Amino acid sequence: MNLSEQKTILNHLIISTNMIHLKNATYIDWQTLDFKNTDIWVESGVQGKIHFTEPTNLPDKPESIDCHGLYVTRTLVNAHHHIYSALARGMPQPAVQPENFHQKLQNVWWKLDHALDEEMIRSSALVTALSAAKSGCSFIIDHHSSPAHIGGSLDIIAEALDEAGLGHLLAYEISDRDGVEATKLALNETENYLKKRQGLVGLHAGFTVSDETLLRAKEIALENNTGVHIHLAEDQIDQKISLKKYNKRVVQRFADQSILDLKASIFVHAIHLNSSERQLFNEHRNYIAVNYDSNLNNKVGIFTGSGLGDNIMLGTDGMHSNMFASARTAWFTGMNHENINPDTVYERLRQVHHYLKQNGFGGDGENNLMILDYDTPTPFNKDNFTGHFFYGMHSGHVKHLISQGKLILKDRLHTILDEEKILTESRMQAERLWKKLG
Ligand SMILES: [Zn+2]
Repeated sequence: MNLSEQKTILNHLIISTNMIHLKNATYIDWQTLDFKNTDIWVESGVQGKIHFTEPTNLPDKPESIDCHGLYVTRTLVNAHHHIYSALARGMPQPAVQPENFHQKLQNVWWKLDHALDEEMIRSSALVTALSAAKSGCSFIIDHHSSPAHIGGSLDIIAEALDEAGLGHLLAYEISDRDGVEATKLALNETENYLKKRQGLVGLHAGFTVSDETLLRAKEIALENNTGVHIHLAEDQIDQKISLKKYNKRVVQRFADQSILDLKASIFVHAIHLNSSERQLFNEHRNYIAVNYDSNLNNKVGIFTGSGLGDNIMLGTDGMHSNMFASARTAWFTGMNHENINPDTVYERLRQVHHYLKQNGFGGDGENNLMILDYDTPTPFNKDNFTGHFFYGMHSGHVKHLISQGKLILKDRLHTILDEEKILTESRMQAERLWKKLG
């Protein structure tokens, strides 16, 4: 037996010892939507697989879950989140009411992110991880900002999500809005983090980054074989400032700086784009993350996919961690603004799995499963799946969740995190944060 064969057997043994056996399940294939009554054996680990027949050499009896009457399908992924805003829910209104989106950033979000310290960041990550798992989400693509605590901030989030058993793809929001020193620290944090883990080069938006910063961000992305994660034309302000400062619209500026040529990039929102920008953007086949709940809340306008291709994903933009809710808003809002059907919106929700796989990011394999207690009053099958998904199913139906082959939610309770302790802590950290803002 050669070394490679020995390694294969060893890996298989390691995987098999941690297997989960889902008995009597109804499995729904996330791509074909085929329904299958079957037992499922779930391997653990980043590259773990699922089996529909019992593996022959199971050394230990796997943990078994009776899934009779339950539906098993792939977990959800949040393609754009801001974990740092988790403690904002219910916070006092700002002293000066913002009159537009730019003022909302200045008076609310850029004050909040400035007030974040290590404990608040950690607490935000843990409480988000808890909420995500309970909503069927096993992987978060996050865009973080904490200008008063930049160095090491991504490690705090990564460690909290690791502890909670969630997959992640993190980025620090580089921006020139806080001066030269903060930009330097943010670039350093990104470089340091990407040396250790998978991630993206985060940038706030075109209107808060100089050409010099954009160039440095592109270099870091190229050095680390990754892309950028940046807000694009969320509000007209992005285009207005771009035209004023650079005499060109945002997409043209990104094209001229070769930002559109990077692999693995995520452009967020993409609302205020004219037809030539849409064409230019689409030529590069980059991915977009759309966040309807946030767009409605900020009154910035509504996304339409016209001319932008199929690489469209869904996120929550820090509003919440519930991708069922995000998908539902995407359908009800989307159908009022463009010619789409539920299948298109469901494909957008699932597009993120292709994005992660194509770009070699780990942690979102087939062994990420949610088990739904969905007691439907009407027939439920492959042909009417999306009708049920958008008009019946919600996060409350998530009974168990398996992330990377590990059962992290059982009977709606987290198996790793102490929920009471985490919520008590986050309420305390929220009070601290709000005092700092007051
Ligand atoms: Zn965002």
